[in-house]
Amino acid sequence: MAGATQTYEGGCHCGSVRFRIEADLSELTRCTCSMCTKKGMLGCYVPAQQFHLLQGESELTLYQFNTRVAKHFFCRNCGIHAFMNPRSNPRAFAINARCLDNFDLDARQYETKVFDGRNWEAAQEARLTSARLESASPTRAPHPPAE
Ligand SMILES: [Zn+2]
Repeated sequence: MAGATQTYEGGCHCGSVRFRIEADLSELTRCTCSMCTKKGMLGCYVPAQQFHLLQGESELTLYQFNTRVAKHFFCRNCGIHAFMNPRSNPRAFAINARCLDNFDLDARQYETKVFDGRNWEAAQEARLTSARLESASPTRAPHPPAE
């Protein structure tokens, strides 16, 4: 279900890190990987040109694990992980919708897609297969997954 791309701002808990995105939030991804489960990631994905860090670059700390491709950034003051560069597309940004201002998860209409990050390789292969099939249909763009 494609919705409208809108501008949103968000940040960490203490306010040191602030960012703005242009995103379509009609579909959010819940990844089952060990990291996203613990941080409660409800992801939306945007290309780098639709992510703008407004402040707090010096407050960001990087956490990496496993293949060390994904970049999990968090605020060194309050510990909140608001966004990351996912393993599936390190040049894109995955933002935790829970960190957006004025985005009420209970009031909004959105679909939740599950990415089986616990079985990342198989889930990624399934996603790419599905993207190839969907590319035959010009109305749907492949949806980037999480890690
Ligand atoms: Zn903070």
